[in-house]
Amino acid sequence: MRLLLLVALGLTSLFSSAYARGDGHDQQAQAALDLLAEAIQFETVAGRSQVCPYARTLKAHFVAAGFAESDAQIFELKEDDTCSLVVRYPGDDGELRPVIFLAHMDVVDALPEDWSYPPFEMTREGGRLYGRGVMDNKGSVAAITSTLLNLKAIDYRPSRDLYFVVTGDEETTAKTTQLLFSQVPALATAKYALNADAGLGVLNAERKPIYFQLQTAEKTYATFELTTTNPGGHSSLPRDDNAIYELSKALVQLQGFRFPVRSTESTIAYFRASSKLYPGAVGQHMAAFAADPSDKLAIDFLDQMPGEAAMIHTTCVATMLQAGHAENALPQTASATVNCRIFPGVSLETVEAFISEAMGDLDVSVRPLFRPFENPPSEINPAVVEAVSFALERDYAGTPIIPYVAPYSTDGAVFRANGIPTFGVSGQFIVYPEEKRAHGKDEFLPVESFLKSLHYWEALIRAVSGEERQPGATIKP
Ligand SMILES: [Zn+2]
Repeated sequence: MRLLLLVALGLTSLFSSAYARGDGHDQQAQAALDLLAEAIQFETVAGRSQVCPYARTLKAHFVAAGFAESDAQIFELKEDDTCSLVVRYPGDDGELRPVIFLAHMDVVDALPEDWSYPPFEMTREGGRLYGRGVMDNKGSVAAITSTLLNLKAIDYRPSRDLYFVVTGDEETTAKTTQLLFSQVPALATAKYALNADAGLGVLNAERKPIYFQLQTAEKTYATFELTTTNPGGHSSLPRDDNAIYELSKALVQLQGFRFPVRSTESTIAYFRASSKLYPGAVGQHMAAFAADPSDKLAIDFLDQMPGEAAMIHTTCVATMLQAGHAENALPQTASATVNCRIFPGVSLETVEAFISEAMGDLDVSVRPLFRPFENPPSEINPAVVEAVSFALERDYAGTPIIPYVAPYSTDGAVFRANGIPTFGVSGQFIVYPEEKRAHGKDEFLPVESFLKSLHYWEALIRAVSGEERQPGATIKP
């Protein structure tokens, strides 16, 4: 509550004024753009040996700015040729639990021949920054790094320890993330983690903010293999029993199967808040679902919208097929890969049982391909909502903050599984979905979005560092 009072007193106007022009040409903004351009040049795709050099370059920036060597630790995972970096910004009060800021250095691959710009060079054109990772997730790595370096330069002292955790394999195995809790035991004591790799600010076509997604949970990623087998035989003598036909029937049954409706505090809050943003039937059905998550009409309506359907069910979909061994032989096996996004809190076994139920009388083996990273939803933390709204005050004041259960998964799952409430709070605002090109061709971030994210991260870091405990004391230009 203290924080809100400070906002009311106009504290934000006292903030570091170096970004004040917001035109991208002041020194700090340029330094942040340089950090991003430098980041894009590292081809931090799995298997290309560039994550560790990038981590070392980032570490060097922190050490040059005055962070102790021991407060910028690199952890190398030799078997996968990748690294993570953990930076500690020491706080004044050892009694306060740390807060973690989370981002990742690795990117998915980009083929230069597919792109209109060189993917591993940053190109600034038409108010946009192009390059693999500008959005996912190097834009945030650069913005947070730049902010922490600037705060250090003005001798800013957070009240609590802040950790900036930058992982090296979010897009693949998340092994560097899983190892962190044994490498840096203090992380397990954190009050919460703020994940720059999730959440989103959404702009309308006129580039005015509509809402800010605060990610509080993510679905669990799991993959099953469905297999049918048969003795086979010569293809000149077809029979009724046939592995391919059997599997095809199984998949059609799966297609028609709907997992039970689920809801959490976050999804109810999401539909309640979203209902006010959508006129007409969409908003009405969202409100009806928020009021009664068993409302059949509302469920049927939301089920027609893939994004909303994903918010109320576990989903499973066939993604790959393999069958037969010769063109003139009856198939002995047929198998399908089925990718599932499991609603938070639902176990793998429950999903496996539902898939088996969907198979009915068909003789299909259902097998999970790996043990997924099950993680609980994080309860909405009012202090985090307050800090985010404080951080939005300068450039996106009054934007509604909407809790969001993501259908995708990130490193946040590992943190939640380790008992750390984790919130996706990316400071990027884009026209959605038009400007969302993460993982795709010609990934870009509007220059304005990047520059405003610098204000956002500075305010957010100050807010969660316990700024409210020492009003005015540490705020200097
Ligand atoms: Zn990412």
